[in-house]
Amino acid sequence: MGKDLRQALKVLEDHGRLKTVSAPVDRVFEVAGILRRVEGGPAVLFTDVTGSPYPLLGGLTDSREKIALVLGTSARDLLPFTVRALQNPISPVLVERAPCQEIVESEPDLSTLPIPTLSERDGGPYLTGGLHLSHNPENGIRNASMHRNQLKGRDRLGIWMAPTHLFHHYLAAARRGRPLPVAIAIGVHPALLVASQLRLPFDVDELTYAGALLGEPVEMVRCRTIPVEVPAQAEFVLECEILPEVKEPEGPFGEFAGLYGAVRDSWVMRVKAVTHRADAIYHNVMCGMSVENPVLGAVGREPSLYQAVKAAVPTVRDVHMPVAGGRGNFDAVVSIKKVMEGEPQKAGFAAFAAQDLLKFVVVVDDDVDVYNFNEVEYAICTRMRADQDIHVIRGVKTVALDPMGDEYAPARSTVAKMIIDATRPFGQKPETLDQADVPASVKDMVSKKWKVYGL
Ligand code: MN
Repeated sequence: MGKDLRQALKVLEDHGRLKTVSAPVDRVFEVAGILRRVEGGPAVLFTDVTGSPYPLLGGLTDSREKIALVLGTSARDLLPFTVRALQNPISPVLVERAPCQEIVESEPDLSTLPIPTLSERDGGPYLTGGLHLSHNPENGIRNASMHRNQLKGRDRLGIWMAPTHLFHHYLAAARRGRPLPVAIAIGVHPALLVASQLRLPFDVDELTYAGALLGEPVEMVRCRTIPVEVPAQAEFVLECEILPEVKEPEGPFGEFAGLYGAVRDSWVMRVKAVTHRADAIYHNVMCGMSVENPVLGAVGREPSLYQAVKAAVPTVRDVHMPVAGGRGNFDAVVSIKKVMEGEPQKAGFAAFAAQDLLKFVVVVDDDVDVYNFNEVEYAICTRMRADQDIHVIRGVKTVALDPMGDEYAPARSTVAKMIIDATRPFGQKPETLDQADVPASVKDMVSKKWKVYGL
């Protein structure tokens, strides 16, 4: 039996990080309101969501602490843990019998699922925790990614795709005039969701890295109605196809940036079958101003960012993509042990080349804690001259989800990128940047004697 969502829930429960709400709750806004209020606290299992026989799980991945806990590490060790996983892939294995196929519904009715409506102006209920699995029509190589799905009918979903790997699978199928088979797995171990957020090259299977994060292969099973393999331990699987050349209005939807994406003509999925566990749990990921979507993304993107910077500046020590202000996408703090002047710029270029949405990078020395905003601000104030140390690169490709890009003309969507070099300039007399404080030996002595002072 592989590691699955239930094993992750057991870990959270054992650490007091899972709560159950048995009072009836409305799937329109109330579920989201509760999850916003407890954000960063426990995950919540709602057992009585009006109009649905299924329980709803929320808040599973809205803090680094909870993600680290279910991966078997700590928040501080997440980066080395995920970087190690990138270096040690484990391929999935195929199994014959799967919990996710205990029940097979060949005439699906999505209205029975407790799909919540999250933000005030959302165009309706959105499925947000779905892991989308597809195969490259040219060579069969799998891709795993997450996309928003608007509920449009009993067997109909809208989908919005950035110009990513799934989109290229769709284009390859559409060129042949064929629908693209896509399975949506709901309720999987968070390692699979983190793996889907790694920035891997095209034609590299994210699930081999999910295996690396789990320390064991992900078990897969063949879908019943489409030629796609899905995680055998999933709670629900929606067996779908993206229709070729069909577009319908989709949106608005409160996205990761905490802003609404407008109504656009977008792609449509037909759901051919729904399979699920007999006692399946529906899983929701919060979007809009919640930090859940940014945290999940940042934990997956930071190891790729670290490796990209390391290729340019081997002495990189740490990277951090802040989630509340930067939404896990727009900015990063990078610490390096500077050996040569100009390395902070190289670190910035490497970071921008690796990630489309990233638009400013603060580079600090390795004595600065990248997670401590006071230390980062202090470095900017004491080690940076704006006329020499701020570098702006104009007209660089971004994604339409950047509000400073061009939402209505994605192909023209560019932004400016900024590097702030907050490392000590070489040539500055070292003593001008030494921090003035009580001697360390005296701090130790005071700590040891603390009780004596009666404070
Ligand atoms: Mn991919």
